[in-house]
Amino acid sequence: MNYKYIIVGGGIAGTTAAEAIRTADKTGSLAIISDEQYRLYSRIMLSKPNFFLEKIPFENVWLKKEEWYSANNVAFMPGKKAVALDTSVRTITLDDGNVLTYEKLLLAPGGAARKFPGPGGDKGGIFVIRSLDDAKGIIAKTKTAKKAIVIGGGFVSFEMCEMLRMAGVDVTLLLREKIFWEILLDETSGQIIEDALIKGGVKILREAEVAEFLGDASITGAKLKDGTLLECDMAIVGIGIVMNLDWIKSAGIETNRGIIANEYLETSAKDVWVAGDTAEFNDLILGERVQLGNWVNAQMQGRTAGNAMTGKHEAFRLVSFYTTQGFETAIAFAGDVRVDKERVVITRGSHELKSYSRLITWNGRIIGATLINRTQDLAPISKLIEKGVIITGKEEQIKNPAFNLSELLK
Ligand SMILES: Cc1cc2nc3c(=O)[nH]c(=O)nc-3n(C[C@H](O)[C@H](O)[C@H](O)COP(=O)(O)OP(=O)(O)OC[C@H]3O[C@@H](n4cnc5c(N)ncnc54)[C@H](O)[C@@H]3O)c2cc1C
Repeated sequence: MNYKYIIVGGGIAGTTAAEAIRTADKTGSLAIISDEQYRLYSRIMLSKPNFFLEKIPFENVWLKKEEWYSANNVAFMPGKKAVALDTSVRTITLDDGNVLTYEKLLLAPGGAARKFPGPGGDKGGIFVIRSLDDAKGIIAKTKTAKKAIVIGGGFVSFEMCEMLRMAGVDVTLLLREKIFWEILLDETSGQIIEDALIKGGVKILREAEVAEFLGDASITGAKLKDGTLLECDMAIVGIGIVMNLDWIKSAGIETNRGIIANEYLETSAKDVWVAGDTAEFNDLILGERVQLGNWVNAQMQGRTAGNAMTGKHEAFRLVSFYTTQGFETAIAFAGDVRVDKERVVITRGSHELKSYSRLITWNGRIIGATLINRTQDLAPISKLIEKGVIITGKEEQIKNPAFNLSELLK
């Protein structure tokens, strides 16, 4: 079968690209290949307590009606996996053996949740959370679970802890590091978040790692690397994302952790674009190559790539952000929050105030920020990042948590 446009991945990046294509080209043949069984749904809703506790109708998870695909002349192929790509003859091979040809191809396969790699990892009661099927499993188990282990410090484990506590489940959070999300946060941020978790009834074990899960078909507990035994009938593993790029690498497309792209989201192969969590792209605002894992970024990249596939060549520009709320605490990230030797961190607020921002600066301008209970800083910081405002000499003002950062935009 020949298609003008093929999109691999029916998530927010792939589906938004299809929308953009249809805005410019109503008739060009277009296929979306998705290895999930479902039409577009809200992946971000999957970790939100109200969804899990069925306080909002399940139907709200769908972001497209079933008819949308046929009404827009989109050949939607659910339950089909792309397994091979040959850019020289422009073919995609599916796991059922079918071979499709494309004129323009978008790769939007997102990532997969990393599973617990050790012994007992395949027992019942152990979950990751990435897909609607994962969420369905967790919803069912939460109804009977008494004791849960959550592994990993990060946005999704934070949200899972809150959901489980709201469901009345006893929760122990295991952190491999010394403090919550040590890789991206500092001690003060971690302490504020941990205080909130503890106040919400979560037990935290730091520098703790599961050696193996115990039980027969289903888990009854976990043995930690230091020999501690924990009882549990449920575990949620939140230890990051893996990218399954072997078939794309085999096609000779340049990859690193993600698929490498320029600022137009073009990969190293002609007429092949990438969008969403998989894209490791040249970020014009930050002036470096980055890979992001958030909804708005995936959506906007889908739009840029879809436009490009119909001939509208525009560079991708967005200050990305990610926000969450739980245990009466609001957490937000903007831009690039990684810290290295060349980057200087300016902090505002304190543990005592339970309100604390870290502004990551490089060459005199802000390139990212982590905000705990300071969401009022998010809009001005995003603008400061976008405009590349030089803040050299203003550091003392910025450190004062009462100082309005919008002043720096004037
Ligand atoms: C539980 C959870 C909660 C989140 N909450 C938030 C939040 O609050 N805010 C926020 O900004 N972000 C959040 N995120 C992140 C956000 O959901 C992602 O950044 C976004 O979904 C990425 O979109 P995408 O289209 O790039 O990839 P995905 O949504 O992962 O979609 C990719 C699709 O491609 C499919 N696929 C992969 N390989 C193939 C193949 N070879 N053939 C066919 N199909 C394939 C995948 O199965 C998947 O269906 C959350 C993520 C999770 C998992």
